[in-house]
Amino acid sequence: PVFEYAPAPESRAVVDIAPSYGLFIDGEFGEAGDGKVFKTLSPSSEEVLSEVAQAGAEDVDRAVKAARKAFTAWSALPGSERAKYLFRIARIIQERSRELAVLESLDNGKPIRESRDTDLPLVAAHFFYYAGWADKLAYAVRGRSPLNGTSGTDPKPLGVAGQIIPWNFPLLMLAWKIAPALATGNTVVLKPAETTPLSALFFADICRQAGLPKGVVNIITGDGSTGAELVAHPGIDKVAFTGSTEVGKAIARTVAGTKKKVTLELGGKAANIVFDDAPLDQAVEGIIGGIFFNQGHVCCAGSRLLVQESVQEELLDALKRRMGTLRLGDPLDKNTDIGAINSAEQLARIRALADAGEAEGAERWAPACELPTSGYWFAPTLFTGVTQAHRIAREEIFGPVLSVLTFRTPEEAVAKANNTPYGLSAGIWTEKGSRILWMANKLRAGIVWSNTFNKFDPASPFGGYKESGYGREGGRHGLEAYLDV
Ligand code: NAD
Repeated sequence: PVFEYAPAPESRAVVDIAPSYGLFIDGEFGEAGDGKVFKTLSPSSEEVLSEVAQAGAEDVDRAVKAARKAFTAWSALPGSERAKYLFRIARIIQERSRELAVLESLDNGKPIRESRDTDLPLVAAHFFYYAGWADKLAYAVRGRSPLNGTSGTDPKPLGVAGQIIPWNFPLLMLAWKIAPALATGNTVVLKPAETTPLSALFFADICRQAGLPKGVVNIITGDGSTGAELVAHPGIDKVAFTGSTEVGKAIARTVAGTKKKVTLELGGKAANIVFDDAPLDQAVEGIIGGIFFNQGHVCCAGSRLLVQESVQEELLDALKRRMGTLRLGDPLDKNTDIGAINSAEQLARIRALADAGEAEGAERWAPACELPTSGYWFAPTLFTGVTQAHRIAREEIFGPVLSVLTFRTPEEAVAKANNTPYGLSAGIWTEKGSRILWMANKLRAGIVWSNTFNKFDPASPFGGYKESGYGREGGRHGLEAYLDV
């Protein structure tokens, strides 16, 4: 259905986007050494938002050297002093959150309701959370042998972290990377994704506003080649990467045999498992949020719905009714549920996989939905009659496409859920507490939600089993990724 509703767009005027941005190195914005630039677009309109510097090898080198120089003083600061900077950054993010939410929706295409109510509060929460750890590390991680007091443990920062993030949650992925790194006394060089560089550059401005010492945070914009230069730079002590499994594997190969530590947060193909005793209305909301939140550009998206055969019909009817109420359109409209696909390349990937689903015999369904004429859009889509043989059951689509499979017993549900090279997340919907515990123990996934989905908390570690990567971000475990103990 085409919905009639009064649009209430968030004002674009709350964010002042400059026509061009330089690299943020050693506390200053400046052009790339070779003067190269690239354009960043709004995926909902294809309007050029700004021109951004493209960092080359020489810029990467300058940024790493600035971070190295800053490391000596930063790592020597008492944790309580580092905490003050992080608390200040967290508060500035809160103060500027409306501006940042609009910016994020413009550059990424996500609905303002999500950037305003999910991304930005979580970004601030991560800085508050890790600010709280900065002055407690010595007590929490340091230990002494009870035998004679001569042996013990002592946490030390690793040095300079090279951090590379994707485009699906630009500012939130930045927070996941930068907050724990700074709290533990490391300095960073961060590269945002080429389609969403703007919020990281605004964050650079926030670092200046917070008075963060020069060189502690450096932001270099560019594409995969810039990322590869950063990973290969000999001055990096640690690589933290979030992105595709393919690039993650390439990074692991590059750092093999070097001193560099690495953590990888990669792709996923999560199963959202619904039993016949589940509260179905609640499950429908969880399924919808699980796959259509952020247009399905979510590594832990519930992209495979496993439904118990006995409730399949009832659940799918309710799910289709609910999908018919989703509003797709202007990301700045506060009523929008589904925004734009982040790029033409991503749209082509989603289309190709959805077409493969149809060609391989699965049944495709989408609610009647008018797509805007400019920008990149994909209607929320459901595939039934999916089997493990289908590509849409096996490959990460990273778009608003749900593949439905069925099961009869909990054992079969576990076997199907685990039948993937990925292992990032899973969801279980049932009233039986004992079944939740049994399933959670059997599921090979780093995060298991029960009777909810896509819930995030800075205090909870996040990360994958199998090809979804290694290392954890968030919580106390997230500190370990940045410490030598
Ligand atoms: P991508 O791997 O193509 O790009 C991610 C980042 O890596 C970008 O900044 C890109 O410029 C950079 N990059 C590309 N090639 C590189 C190279 N050879 N060396 C170094 N850096 C390089 O992934 P994407 O399409 O931007 O993001 C989508 C993927 O990210 C999905 O697979 C998704 O599941 C995953 N993801 C995972 C998590 C998680 O926490 N596990 C979170 C968000 C996204």
